[in-house]
Amino acid sequence: MHRRITGRLVIATHNPGKLAEMRELLAPHGIDAVSAGELNLAEPEETGDSFRTNAALKASAAAHAAGLPAFADDSGLVVDALDGAPGIYSARWAGEAKDFAAAMARIERLLQERGATTPDKRTARFVSALCVAWPDGHLEEVEATVDGTLVWPPRGTAGFGYDPAFLPDGHTRTFGEMTSVEKHGLPPLGLGLSHRARAFVKLQARCLKEPHLG
Ligand code: IMP
Repeated sequence: MHRRITGRLVIATHNPGKLAEMRELLAPHGIDAVSAGELNLAEPEETGDSFRTNAALKASAAAHAAGLPAFADDSGLVVDALDGAPGIYSARWAGEAKDFAAAMARIERLLQERGATTPDKRTARFVSALCVAWPDGHLEEVEATVDGTLVWPPRGTAGFGYDPAFLPDGHTRTFGEMTSVEKHGLPPLGLGLSHRARAFVKLQARCLKEPHLG
């Protein structure tokens, strides 16, 4: 049985970019979202070997610590020519300084070393695993992806992380050149474009009430 989210929900992320995106996605549903940072919850080690395991680990830790349902996302960039790297290590590739320009340059260097110079050899996808955990151990888990190619040099200043290097399939602008509304591509504009929006559409069908209109 799927379980619906009502009332207060902890958003188990300390990443301001993701927190802002999640608040935007949850706002129409009348959910009172409070962040793990605001509750001073500790950030657990991401010791899982998949996006899904890491999302469950973060959501469960926050749900138990706060005594409230908690939502977590684990996401990253999977580059085919790099055997899936940086994958679950996407945040770590930017280092302590969260230097994504350096992380994108590292990916580009590796792509060049492997002769991946044409778009067909530069395919990649963003993956988002979402998990809502309840203090009693119940989990709702969904996962979604968006396919694209990596461009060099990076383009645009919108978004966060690897957005400027990622050109989603069927589009002429990178995520870094899109507004957040375009990047999400959520109804009524579309059925979800970004990995997170697509995963959210799945979660919404399972766990949320219809959005408040007007
Ligand atoms: P984590 O999910 O907190 O482990 O971090 C995933 C990392 O993947 C983020 O810090 C970003 O670098 C990258 N990432 C995930 N989603 C996106 C996105 O929508 N745009 C750009 N980078 C992303």
